[in-house]
Amino acid sequence: MVHIPHLIVGAGPVGLILGHYFKRFNIPFQIFEKQSFLSAHPSAHYLNMRTMEILDELNIQLPLENIQHFSNYVYLRRIGETPLNSTSQLIDYKQYSYTSYAHLPQSLFVQHVQQGIRDKIQLNTEIKKIEFKDKIIKVNDDITCDYLYGCDGLNGFVRDYLKIKLIGNRDLQRFLNIHFTSKQLINRLEQYNSMLSFIYNSDITAVIIKHRIEDGTFAIQIPLDLLTGKTDIQQIQHIKQDHVLIKNLINKTLLNQINDIEIKSVGFWRMGAVYAEQYYKNNCILVGDACHGMPPAGGFGMNTGIQDAQNLAYKIKEQKDLLHYQQERQQIAKDNIDTALKYYNKSLDIAKAFTFDINKLKTYQSFMKNTPDFLYQAGVKLGGSLIELDPIYKRIKVNDYIPLVFPKEEIGFKYMSGDIGENGGQLAPLAVREILKNRERKWYSINCDSNHQRIDIENVNKMIVRSDMHIYQQQ
Ligand SMILES: Cc1cc2nc3c(=O)[nH]c(=O)nc-3n(C[C@H](O)[C@H](O)[C@H](O)COP(=O)(O)OP(=O)(O)OC[C@H]3O[C@@H](n4cnc5c(N)ncnc54)[C@H](O)[C@@H]3O)c2cc1C
Repeated sequence: MVHIPHLIVGAGPVGLILGHYFKRFNIPFQIFEKQSFLSAHPSAHYLNMRTMEILDELNIQLPLENIQHFSNYVYLRRIGETPLNSTSQLIDYKQYSYTSYAHLPQSLFVQHVQQGIRDKIQLNTEIKKIEFKDKIIKVNDDITCDYLYGCDGLNGFVRDYLKIKLIGNRDLQRFLNIHFTSKQLINRLEQYNSMLSFIYNSDITAVIIKHRIEDGTFAIQIPLDLLTGKTDIQQIQHIKQDHVLIKNLINKTLLNQINDIEIKSVGFWRMGAVYAEQYYKNNCILVGDACHGMPPAGGFGMNTGIQDAQNLAYKIKEQKDLLHYQQERQQIAKDNIDTALKYYNKSLDIAKAFTFDINKLKTYQSFMKNTPDFLYQAGVKLGGSLIELDPIYKRIKVNDYIPLVFPKEEIGFKYMSGDIGENGGQLAPLAVREILKNRERKWYSINCDSNHQRIDIENVNKMIVRSDMHIYQQQ
């Protein structure tokens, strides 16, 4: 029997960041990862300011992209045409943090973040069984640990095994998710400086995510409802192998075809908006996607998880009550889910104005569910063509679009309960180190309630600085 005091399940971005904190705090740990490699899918790509502060705290340097080349969300009928609209996502980050938000595909993130703790990661090791005996946790029959951290993602084993329920809608929408490379597409997109390209035409509705310029890495997400009447993933597994069909779909987003597409992987993604009703049970603690899942608007998923890991690591180091971890981070997950949902709904409104109305589509779907696919798709195309001719999209105003940077949510977390001190008070995470180190500025922004507030640097002295860079104001 091997004893590992702190056992992290899953070497995704969240498990790796937790590992870095444990290394820093001299907490003995191991990470078990069921796969033989770290995830090669680019999934998340936006690192918010709070995450960048955390990476700075851990001295992790990443090969970040130049954000200028990823500054826009563009809305197009087809790449190569004049955009229906384009919104810049550049903001003056210095108002909020001493670090800028950044862009890096998740696959590269994990490759770089594993450095420094590589010897602690055990690949090909799946956790399949957990038992509790006295205060010891027994795992897979041959390992014991004092604490077990479920960083094993939304479909992970730990939460399921602990029978912790998810609250919310696990199945908002399903997408075909394609990871591919194309240098030609990089060239076609150069004029737009886009991070996301939303495509609305009568053949396809999709979002193209530009992940990496150097090697032309992309992902494209296509709502399954528009592709086929069937959203039962079992019935449409064959699509994944059909690379001719997949390349054809990608080309439908373009005015002129490209011929250098290399398909890396094709999968289905079930998007939900959920959080775990409990964040821990008997020293088994959920972190990251294991305790929440949210729509991608705002890029909160991975960022919220990384920030959970930071919060939890300090709680473990300082032997704080785990209830405080739950109280603080569950509220943040709920708030971020609300924001992500708000902008997911906005994306449906935009789609409705540009091509399709998801509610009408669902009615259509229920009528057509027993018809062959080609008939279903012909109907969708006809509907799309009619709307494409309609200039109704002009009614969408610029401020109706989807932002990328949410300073209040990123930096301005408030904890209403948890480890907020004997006198109570509101927690407001700030770039505290900048305030303490560099007092050149006379004020600093905080968002400790719904109104954006500025505080005088002088007031910092009336605040209590918590070791994880959160401060709370004394009442
Ligand atoms: C298409 C897409 C786009 C996204 N875009 C963004 C974005 O722009 N910004 C953002 O912040 N987030 C985004 N996300 C969300 C982001 O990818 C997740 O929030 C993030 O991966 C969560 O990290 P994690 O470490 O908690 O879990 P995961 O990345 O899911 O990692 C879990 C790890 O645990 C391992 N594991 C599972 N079960 C076991 C077991 N029993 N034993 C051992 N190991 C196990 C898995 O193999 C995996 O390596 C996106 C997600 C998707 C799918």
